[in-house]
Amino acid sequence: MSVEAEHAERVEQTLAQGLPALSFPAALETHFLAQAEGSRRRAITEAGLAAVMLFAGMVVADALLTPDTVKFALAVRLLVFGPVVLVGLAVLNALRIPWLTEWLIVLAGMFAVTLTALILLQAEGRWAVARLVEINIIVVYTCTLARFWPALALGAFTMAVQLGLATTLPDFTGVLAINTTLLLGAVTVFTLYGNYTLERDERMAYLLAQREQALQDALHTSHQQLARMARTDALTEVANRRHAEDFLAQTWAHAQQRQVPMALVMIDIDHFKRYNDHHGHLSGDRCLQAVARALSACSRRAGDLVARLGGEEFVLIMNDVDHASALSVAQRIQASVQALGVPHGGSPSVPVVTVSVGVASMRPRPGDEALLLMKRADDALYAAKAQGRNRVCDMGSDGVIRCTPAGGEGRA
Ligand code: GH3
Ligand code: MG
Ligand code: MG
Repeated sequence: MSVEAEHAERVEQTLAQGLPALSFPAALETHFLAQAEGSRRRAITEAGLAAVMLFAGMVVADALLTPDTVKFALAVRLLVFGPVVLVGLAVLNALRIPWLTEWLIVLAGMFAVTLTALILLQAEGRWAVARLVEINIIVVYTCTLARFWPALALGAFTMAVQLGLATTLPDFTGVLAINTTLLLGAVTVFTLYGNYTLERDERMAYLLAQREQALQDALHTSHQQLARMARTDALTEVANRRHAEDFLAQTWAHAQQRQVPMALVMIDIDHFKRYNDHHGHLSGDRCLQAVARALSACSRRAGDLVARLGGEEFVLIMNDVDHASALSVAQRIQASVQALGVPHGGSPSVPVVTVSVGVASMRPRPGDEALLLMKRADDALYAAKAQGRNRVCDMGSDGVIRCTPAGGEGRA
């Protein structure tokens, strides 16, 4: 099974199972995280820089509510949190490890919560407790970015810190403790619920996009296969008649436009009916395949096309070629089919399979039609048959047909 097919199968299995635990099989998880990595890293870097400024900006609250700690708070905000987060951002941009990036987000959140708790512990004023709201802000801010499971870890960590403060801060008792803890609990649950639904939707959208992509790829592949089949002869795998006609029209237009010569080489297997009668239709098919391979081997130029016109008749269309070169390719074809040495038990002349070849070339003038070139090559082929087969006949621009003797030695 191909890598793409395995991927598509995993996508289908995961879609069928649903996403209760917000996780994919390992290979899919890696792909999911990797394809989102770039945009995620950019968003996190921007949010991280904004967080450094926001956390520094909270010094205004320090100055207004707990002025006794402002120096300590300023040092913590500017000299500890800022540099650590900047280094963290540099590290995640350098390493580009998706799962690490996800956890670095909440590590930064945990760090901010811890530092805020430290600042609050330093404060002596009665407003220190009121500032617990900052911890809520940090949780909400971090969770807007984080994925669900790291966000859950942040929620648990923050609740532990809250409870720690509840037992440490002198004014943190009774109704105040219950209220702030309830507030943090509610905020955490709501943001985590948001995290869960957002991530579930993101993962579902990813799976559906992967399914769509797989369908499009399959469609594209089968479209290409169909297009190839529509222009290929199924038995010999050379071009079919339709493709030959299109190619001839294109080559003709090109030759007409640029005023360059082009050539047509018609090839017909000799006594093929007898071959079938003597060796059977299946051997006949194999013979057609062998001849098609020989023709393809003789025409390796980029502008050439070998096609089976039907039955045991082939054509070679040559673009931008002079008459002498086309003739020499035709002679090579005739010689190489004979050299295949495919035994022909029913032949009245040579005991191997041979071909008759007709060649015509033209520099098409405006108004000329491609049919004219086909007619000339056909006439040349007819002459080759009439003169005893296994030979090449060609019609030059003077309209005169010249033939090689049987087997291709010398010129008649
Ligand atoms: P000539 O030398 O004059 O060309 O004689 P020929 O027997 O080759 O020509 P003719 O047109 O009389 O016979 C062509 C034969 O080709 C008849 C047909 O059975 C055979 N043929 C056509 N298509 C196929 C094919 O796909 N497979 C096989 N095995 N034979 C085919
Ligand atoms: Mg024939
Ligand atoms: Mg024929």
